[in-house]
Amino acid sequence: MYPVPGHLAFSLLCHRYFNVELISVIVGGLLPDLIDKPLDDLFHITPYGRYAMHSLTGLAIAGLVAYVLFGKQIGLAYSLGHLAHLIADADFNPWFWPFYDHQFPAGITIVDLVRAPGKILFPSWILLETSILGLVLFLYSKYAEKKTTQAAILIAIAGLSIYRITRVRPEEMAMQP
Ligand SMILES: [Zn+2]
Repeated sequence: MYPVPGHLAFSLLCHRYFNVELISVIVGGLLPDLIDKPLDDLFHITPYGRYAMHSLTGLAIAGLVAYVLFGKQIGLAYSLGHLAHLIADADFNPWFWPFYDHQFPAGITIVDLVRAPGKILFPSWILLETSILGLVLFLYSKYAEKKTTQAAILIAIAGLSIYRITRVRPEEMAMQP
């Protein structure tokens, strides 16, 4: 997913239901991309824009660092945000890095944000993720106090998220026979 609105929506959902510290769960939801994307796209030292921070090892290490440096509350909130990031990127993560030799898909690069935004920003995906964020924000409102309303919204969020995560990039679709 995109950092905003997709990953932000997932962090807020964790904040809403797990009662964790807001800033840390947002940082956990954004940091994997803020570290892995530049390492590949700008510095070319990793093979793909989802790398160490998009693995369970990365999650464990970063969560432990947050815990040691900032204590239990922040460590837990960070880890939850980071885990939510991996779930939102579930179409591909090198989950078992560095213990398994993952085959990385054809790369995209954040440099295209400037060079060729059409290759990286898809309006339908942005619309879907914005809808998910909108539903998450609605869960904070007084109109979503009833458990049944919340359940219906959560089912809608789950459905939209699964639909979004299983989409194939439009240009890859064009490449397929
Ligand atoms: Zn990511």
